[in-house]
Parts: sequence; structure tokens; C-alpha cells
Amino acid sequence: MLGADDAVTAALAARGWPARPLADQPLGVDLLNTRWVAGGVAYDLLDHDDLTEAWLADRELPTGRPVPRRQLREARDAVAAVIADPADHAALNALLDRGRVRLAVDEHGQVEHEDVADPAWRAAWACLRDYLRLREATPDRLRKCANPDCVLHFQDVSRTSRRQWCSMTACGNRFKARRHHDRVRGQA
Ligand SMILES: [Zn+2]
Repeated sequence: MLGADDAVTAALAARGWPARPLADQPLGVDLLNTRWVAGGVAYDLLDHDDLTEAWLADRELPTGRPVPRRQLREARDAVAAVIADPADHAALNALLDRGRVRLAVDEHGQVEHEDVADPAWRAAWACLRDYLRLREATPDRLRKCANPDCVLHFQDVSRTSRRQWCSMTACGNRFKARRHHDRVRGQA
């Protein structure tokens, strides 16, 4: 369920890791935020089976054995590449080719089935499909945080569409302060 991060929060606490920042993003972007940097340390949920399973459970995605960490990581890299450079879509298309949406009807109307032949790819493919949905719904609003040291991404839902930072306190203010500091030093 969107925004719910209960299992991840518990699994992180069990490892003594800090809480995950920016856990409120829709699935297609949330995949990218399974890694983050805090206090100069890089964290990655997809490095560990327990954390990956917690994330999959919170997102109501299928898992299995082995835990599909490699597939999720490949999907994450492919989406990050396209956000950084829209022309860099070869990897993403190769992964999308692993599944199909099959249309059908039932007594209530149209239904869509995700057909992914390899069960190990079902979760990653669902993330990629959600990313496609987001980029159709809000083109040019899926961004990486403007702090070059930060790896977080977000969907900008602000009215002005000018959000630059994952969070003003975590990155915006710190980055502005550093830029100011560099400017002052440059003038000296
Ligand atoms: Zn940031």
C-alpha cells in the first residue's frame, strides 16, 4: 500500500540501520529509493534478503526464493538511467520485454493481467510498469534530487513543478549553504 513502510521500518531497526528517507513515493519511483546515503554512509535495501522481502511485502509485490534482488537492482538501474538521460532506454526496454499486459473482461468491466513468464521477474516488472504509468501521467516530473551527493528520486507533485530536492532539510538547505560557502571562498 502506498506510503506504508511498516515491515521495512521494522527490518531496518532490527539491523540498527537509520530510517529510510522519502518512503512516500509511488512504486515506480520508490524502487529507486531502495538505496540512499545518510551521514556519508551508503545504504541499500537490495543488498539483503530480509530487507528486500520487507520492502516487497510493504508494496504487496510477489517474492520467492531466491529473493529477486538482482532483478530489482537491474530494474532500478534501468529506470535511473532513463531519468538521467531519456535516450538511455535500451536496458529498460530489454527488461520490459520480459512481460506483457493481457487484456480481458469480467462481469465488472475490463481487467488487465500482467503476464511475466519468469516468476523471478514479476516484482521488478510490476515496478517498471508503475514507472511507465508515472511517466505518462506526469512527464518531466520524475527527478533525481539536485544534490549530487544524494541518490534519491521523487515525483514532483508541487503546483509549480519546481521541486529540486528530496527534502529541503536533508539536502536543499545543506546544499545551498555549501554553495554559499564556496562562493564566499571563491571571492576571497
Ligand atoms: Zn536529496
